[in-house]
Amino acid sequence: MRVTIENLEFEYGLGRFRLCIPDLQIEAGTRMAFVGPSGSGKTTLLRLLAGIVTPQSGTVTVGEVPVNELADAGRRAFRIRHIGFVFQDFRLVDHLDVRENILLPYRLNDALPVYDSIESQVKQQAERLDLADKLDSPVDELSQGEQQRVAICRALLPRPELLLADEPTGNLDPKNKDRILDQLFQQTESAEATLVMVTHDHALLDRFDRVIDFTKFHKPETTNE
Ligand code: ADP
Ligand code: MG
Repeated sequence: MRVTIENLEFEYGLGRFRLCIPDLQIEAGTRMAFVGPSGSGKTTLLRLLAGIVTPQSGTVTVGEVPVNELADAGRRAFRIRHIGFVFQDFRLVDHLDVRENILLPYRLNDALPVYDSIESQVKQQAERLDLADKLDSPVDELSQGEQQRVAICRALLPRPELLLADEPTGNLDPKNKDRILDQLFQQTESAEATLVMVTHDHALLDRFDRVIDFTKFHKPETTNE
């Protein structure tokens, strides 16, 4: 899905952090990386794209939908149906096993209906991310890297048209970083999805179509095209 931002102004509270984005367009199918120092607003922008927060003014359009104009329930349903989010802190439910964590979006909201072959899809997804033997394990018995891969499985299972991934390789060794990126690229490509990924791994940036550096967000962005 195409993403468009126009005249966006967002702040968490008066005088607190403020993000202004006059114009940003991400074409469908683009692999976009966000880089920049901690605290520069990368996660905030992902949250705005997902409709988790809404701007004080301006528009965020995802596909054909002005997300910021939807009411809370509508934004939530739209996000669950169309957008995958890999959270920086994973947001897994400790006492549930890996399978149930991957299925969580289907359990929490009927915007995503469960279908007959879903169990086998969960298995396949877990195999792709090397978690097949962990499906019955509670997530609090997994390493950080394994938990991160569970979060990635959960975001990918519904085949989202827009995948937002917040430092999804942050807890992985170099070999696994490339493997995870391969998976994210392959799976977004086969779904013709747009990928927006926050990363500190400058070694990975060559693989993206576009890179936005938040240190100079108010100047024209750099492009790798
Ligand atoms: P990054 O992901 O680039 O490290 P963030 O988008 O998480 O940056 O944060 C940008 C700024 O907004 C920081 O100064 C942070 O402290 C502040 N911030 C983030 N989330 C909240 C929140 N929920 N309420 C108030 N301030 C926040
Ligand atoms: Mg962040």
